[in-house]
Amino acid sequence: MKLVTFEHRDETRVGAVNEVGDVVDLAADPALPRTMVDLVAQGEPALRRARALVAEDSRGIAADDVRLLAPIRPRNNIMCVGKNYLDHAAEFAGSGFDASQQQAVPEHPVVFTKALSSIIGPGDRIDVSADDTATTDYEGELGVVIGTGGTKIAAADAWDHVYGYTVVNDLTVRALQRQHVQFFIGKSAATYCPIGPQIVTRDEIEDITAVWVRTRVNGEERQAAPVSDLIFSIPTLIAAISATVLLEPGDVIATGTPAGVGIGFDPPRYLEPGDVVEVSVDGVGVLTNPTG
Ligand code: MG
Repeated sequence: MKLVTFEHRDETRVGAVNEVGDVVDLAADPALPRTMVDLVAQGEPALRRARALVAEDSRGIAADDVRLLAPIRPRNNIMCVGKNYLDHAAEFAGSGFDASQQQAVPEHPVVFTKALSSIIGPGDRIDVSADDTATTDYEGELGVVIGTGGTKIAAADAWDHVYGYTVVNDLTVRALQRQHVQFFIGKSAATYCPIGPQIVTRDEIEDITAVWVRTRVNGEERQAAPVSDLIFSIPTLIAAISATVLLEPGDVIATGTPAGVGIGFDPPRYLEPGDVVEVSVDGVGVLTNPTG
């Protein structure tokens, strides 16, 4: 299923996108939860109800009549992985920006988080004007949405904990990323975590490693790589994080960004007000946000 959180007539709802692209309001079934986190937490039984609703009420609301919001607002910070594509790790090392790093390719996943307050939805404006350093960079990424939570999840069991996928733009103020050593401040500015436009459930994608992540700025392709290029696979990431962290339903793991970020260019090509950033993941969606 393709699941969205949307605004219609001043109300926020959870919906499913039907075959013709209209949005079916899941509130039509009073037994279904009213937030995406709750829907995810209720797992397969809730999905079955939602599927039945879409099948019986296929009309839905025209896509043009709804405003899509970030599909999910997790309970915990967005979890992110640094340097998880070989070519990106190399370009980052080559930029000389991260002087503290010991090695270009990490031995273990580099995991950090973004504040919940940085989340925005598809089409929302990224406020780069608040960045006094003018070093705002894009990072197009596949986001993994956790279904059943847990700790000490074995890599072999990890796919059972994947509810679905979304698209994340892990926007970064590079100067602050370096200045504060820990990535949190540089990655968590308000509006710096666009998510969406939807969550696609795991069953919809036959092989997630075969799909490509792409980023375009003003129509120019900057990043393009298959998910199979990940240094640390999705099961490895889930096992590594859950070794200590309690993953909860609806948590989002942004899996890392391919080569082609602004800082990888010489001179760097940072975002400026008036740019349009488009991150796409095949079969998962296209996340478009203007900057201002
Ligand atoms: Mg990133």
